[in-house]
Amino acid sequence: GPAGLPPAGALTTAELLELDRRHVWHPYGPMPGLRPPLVVDSASGVRLRLAEPAEGHDELIDGMSSWWSAVHGYGHPVLTGAARAQLERMSHVMFGGLTHEPAVRLAARLVEITPEPLRHVFLADSGSVAVEVAVKMCLQYWRSLGRPAKRRLLTWRGGYHGDTWQPMSVCDPDGGMHHLWSGVLPRQVFADAPPPGFGAPADPGYADHLRGLIARHADELAAVVVEPVVQGAGGMRFHSPAYLRVLREACDEYGVLLVLDEIATGFGRTGELFAADHAGVAPDVLCLGKALTGGMLTLAATLCTPEVAGGIARGEVPVLAHGPTFMGNPLATAVAGASVDLLLSRDWRGEVGRIERGLREGLAAAEGLPGVRDVRVLGAIGVVQLDHEADLAAATRAALREGVWLRPFRDLVYTMPPYVTDAADTARICAAVCAAAAAG
Ligand code: PMP
Repeated sequence: GPAGLPPAGALTTAELLELDRRHVWHPYGPMPGLRPPLVVDSASGVRLRLAEPAEGHDELIDGMSSWWSAVHGYGHPVLTGAARAQLERMSHVMFGGLTHEPAVRLAARLVEITPEPLRHVFLADSGSVAVEVAVKMCLQYWRSLGRPAKRRLLTWRGGYHGDTWQPMSVCDPDGGMHHLWSGVLPRQVFADAPPPGFGAPADPGYADHLRGLIARHADELAAVVVEPVVQGAGGMRFHSPAYLRVLREACDEYGVLLVLDEIATGFGRTGELFAADHAGVAPDVLCLGKALTGGMLTLAATLCTPEVAGGIARGEVPVLAHGPTFMGNPLATAVAGASVDLLLSRDWRGEVGRIERGLREGLAAAEGLPGVRDVRVLGAIGVVQLDHEADLAAATRAALREGVWLRPFRDLVYTMPPYVTDAADTARICAAVCAAAAAG
């Protein structure tokens, strides 16, 4: 075969890993000390099946939902059924000049379940692109209105919005991940990170800080771009929903658009369908992704209001010049439609609530551990923060010994399990988080 490869399925695990090492980039790779990766053979329910046992387990409970996405677990028959049916009809067709039912149904459904003023849906192919599109919409809106100087963004420190150019510019500038580019990226306005604690009373001083920055930079600000309630990959921090109301009011007062990035928090993860629902706040632009397809296919969405869309349409260039090849992919939109319907037909609130209680109970054991700074739980998200950088290899191995897949980073050991995780598996995930925190 090509490159002397044996036929599909005939590679040994050792051969596969050697080819992987030689040829394949992984996220944020190469990551010394964490290689080699585990070879996953298949996945069903909340279990990942390995090609070769790791620390004595050939099956792992997935504590990560494949980075927030696999909320229904793997291989859910409703999703595989929707994919199969769509595959038979048409897996892809260009979206320029053509349209189709899966994309239209999904867009209408998203408009129905998101706050009222959002009405126009851009179907992107990844979260980062959804954020790029959101920023482009905002800049173009102000340009159309004759305010081209309004092209900067305000965000709070500690955030994460993706790995392409505009999203990188609103990631935490001190977080280490993108600081290599700090001299090259668009220069944005950074507010302090919100004071920690979902249930903490709103800090009036911090609210003034946000209002003051928005007021001072209003003439050059196109938008505020933030993750509501939970800052994910930037540090797994929770904050009071009250600050979203502060942002909404200040944005309205000073003429700045509000973009909420719910790519990680959307679809029930924090205990409300969208995290901004904790505050009753509607953005001008909303980014969704990850759990949108139940984690089965790559798809994201950017929703905006008629005001934003109408502004763009009145511009000198009256179109949103963005149109990826796989925009509105029929297979992905069909699965997304099925996933959203499945989620809403289930008692997702009850499921997330049960996981939340399980995580609170199980992670309480980490509170007394030496080296543990904080334990926090919100919805189906559990975080143990250490007072030092974790030894990632040791922490990962400790979780594997418990038969659980976790992906600790920096000073954080955390989990966001699929909503279908039962009480026994939730308890095992908690044991693994505690073991990883102790080892790391
Ligand atoms: N925004 C947030 C809040 C995210 O968590 C992520 C992904 N971790 C992204 C944007 C980027 O999404 P993607 O990885 O699909 O490009």
